[in-house]
Amino acid sequence: MIPEADAAPALRAPGPPAPGHADARGHGDGPSRDSPRGRTHGRSHGVSPLPLRTVAIDRYLETIFCIAAEDEPVRPSRIAQWLGVKAPTVSIGLRRLRAGGWIQTELDRSVTLTAAGSDAAETIVRRHRLAECWLTDLLGLDWASAHLEATRLSASLSDTVLARLDISLGEPRTCPHGHAIPGRTAPYGELVALADLRPGGAGAVRRISEIIEHESFELLRALAAAGVRTGVEVTVEPGGSGDGITLAVGGRPHAIALAPETARMIWVEVVGPSASSARDGRPWPQ
Ligand SMILES: [Zn+2]
Repeated sequence: MIPEADAAPALRAPGPPAPGHADARGHGDGPSRDSPRGRTHGRSHGVSPLPLRTVAIDRYLETIFCIAAEDEPVRPSRIAQWLGVKAPTVSIGLRRLRAGGWIQTELDRSVTLTAAGSDAAETIVRRHRLAECWLTDLLGLDWASAHLEATRLSASLSDTVLARLDISLGEPRTCPHGHAIPGRTAPYGELVALADLRPGGAGAVRRISEIIEHESFELLRALAAAGVRTGVEVTVEPGGSGDGITLAVGGRPHAIALAPETARMIWVEVVGPSASSARDGRPWPQ
């Protein structure tokens, strides 16, 4: 007897998913291995399908998200610098993103994500940050290596693996560098840049700039070697050189010197009874 054709959903051999639909294997936000170009899919919301996302488009979306999160204007030149590509390449890339409905360009040439672009960017960033947590918390990598490795492997994590990973990590609220996992609130209060702390001011490191994370692997590694990581308490010592600061780290015997631009990209939550007065520009307790 031949089974009725509509008694159960048909089992299908793995193959390219239909356009506008999430990957049949549940890899809706991950790259499809069926395509040499590593295409990914935007969410269709069941109406008109968004255009396919490629790995390149994902990199642009992630870049725009991260630059904007640093409160920088997202200009094509900055995107080119961040991605390490030439301006004409970015022009072509942005044209594709605009045509796909992921971004819009303002009158001053700065770029903003559309609602769809923002959704997609959050998915990409969430994947990267959870991969970083996995690499540091479960595999024991330092925060510099974790960023690099997450860049390589996060795109290949399926939604299913990511969901399991999230649970096994205890649903973290930030990545190892202190950036909130999209959709979650970071577990810290008001943050102050180290550069704004007065000598004697102490704080717990909560967040390090995405710019250091992305553009200065060596600095990230040097900070890790000096004991600077999220959660560690640091104190600004008197007598910094020039505009820079000298920093005592978590009870370590040797202080470290930070250049001014570095001190502006590490944020702490002020701790201790002097919390309200440790910030530069406020009255110092007698
Ligand atoms: Zn991170």
